[in-house]
Amino acid sequence: MSEVLVVVDHSAGEVKKVSLELLAMAAGIGSPSAVVVGAGADAAVAALTAHGANVVYVSNDSAVANHVVIPMVDLLAQLVAEKSPAAVLIPSSVDGKEIAGRLAIAVNSGVITDAVAVAADGTATQNVFGGATIVQAKVTHGTPIITVRPNSIAPVEAAGAGTRVDVVLPVSDAAKATTVTNRVAVEKSGRPDLSEASIVVSGGRGVGSDEGFASVIEPLADALGAAVGASRAATDAGWYPHQFQVGQTGKTVSPQLYVANGISGAIQHRAGMQTSKTVVVVNKDAEAPIFDLADFGVVGDLHTVLPELTKILKG
Ligand SMILES: Cc1cc2nc3c(=O)[nH]c(=O)nc-3n(C[C@H](O)[C@H](O)[C@H](O)COP(=O)(O)OP(=O)(O)OC[C@H]3O[C@@H](n4cnc5c(N)ncnc54)[C@H](O)[C@@H]3O)c2cc1C
Repeated sequence: MSEVLVVVDHSAGEVKKVSLELLAMAAGIGSPSAVVVGAGADAAVAALTAHGANVVYVSNDSAVANHVVIPMVDLLAQLVAEKSPAAVLIPSSVDGKEIAGRLAIAVNSGVITDAVAVAADGTATQNVFGGATIVQAKVTHGTPIITVRPNSIAPVEAAGAGTRVDVVLPVSDAAKATTVTNRVAVEKSGRPDLSEASIVVSGGRGVGSDEGFASVIEPLADALGAAVGASRAATDAGWYPHQFQVGQTGKTVSPQLYVANGISGAIQHRAGMQTSKTVVVVNKDAEAPIFDLADFGVVGDLHTVLPELTKILKG
C-alpha cells in the first residue's frame, strides 16, 4: 500500500487536532506517514503513532521556524521523489497553503486546496461559493497535493506501526533568504482554540456592541467551557477581533455544539459552521434563515435569554 504523507502542525510537540484528522483521512487512501519537523518534534511521535501513523519522519531542527516554509517544502519534495506517495495531505492553514503551492511547483504536480474529504482514489471534495456548491476534483498530473480544512473528519485512535525515520531538514540558500527576526505572542484568552473547540458560542450583529460580547457572549462561553466566535458583521464593526470570525472568509468550525446568537445565517457564515453536530439558535426574528440549521431554537432577545441561560448553567 502506498504511503500518504501527512504534514504535521504542532506546537513544541503538542500535535494540533487537524493533523490527527489528516491521519484518519490518510488511512482511507493508503498507509499514513506523518512528517513532523521543528523544535519539540520528538514529543509528537507518540500521539501520531497512536492515531495511525505507520511511519513518522522526524526532524527536531528548528530551521523550519527560522526560515518560514521552504525547508519543509524541500523535505517534502525529497520524500515525494523517494517514496512516490499516493498523496500529500496538508492542513489548510496559511502556511499549509503556501507549502502546498510551492511543493506542487517543485515536484510538478497538481494541487487542490480546502478539501473537506478525499476518497480512496484521490478524488477531493470542496465546498465552494459559501457552501452552495460542492466540487469534486482529482489531480491528474503527479502526486496529489491536497490541503484539507480543519474539522473535516474526526480523529481516530488506531495504533500505527510508528516506525521512526530521522530525516535531515534541508536548508537551502533560497530558504536562508528569509529569516524570522522577531515573534510577538498573541494574547491568549484561556478559552479553547476556536478551530478545535468542541463547543462554540458565537455572536452576530444582534449582540449590538463590544460590550455585548463581554457581558453576554463571553460569560455564556465560559459557563460552557466554549470558544467564542463571531459573524463578519460583528468583527467588521470592531466588536470582536477578526481572528474569531467564523465563515467563508474566517475560521471553519465543526464543534459538537454551536450556539448562534443574533446571527441571521447568511450563506457565508453557514460555510464556516454548517457541519456542527448540534446547532442552537437565539434570534428575535423567527424567520431568520439560521433557524433552518437549528436543532434547538429560541425566538427572543439574546440580551434577556443568554444571561438567564448562563445563570442556570452556573447553577
Ligand atoms: C465575500 C463575502 C465573504 C463573507 N464572509 C463571511 C464570513 O466569513 N463570515 C460571516 O459571518 N459573514 C461573512 N460575510 C457576510 C455575510 O454575508 C453577512 O453579511 C454576515 O454574516 C451577517 O452577519 P450577522 O448575521 O451577524 O448580521 P445580520 O445579517 O445583520 O443579522 C443579525 C441578526 O441578529 C438578529 N438580532 C438582532 N437583534 C437581536 C437581539 N437583540 N436578540 C436576538 N437576535 C437579534 C436579527 O434578527 C438578525 O437575524 C461575507 C460576505 C461576503 C460578500
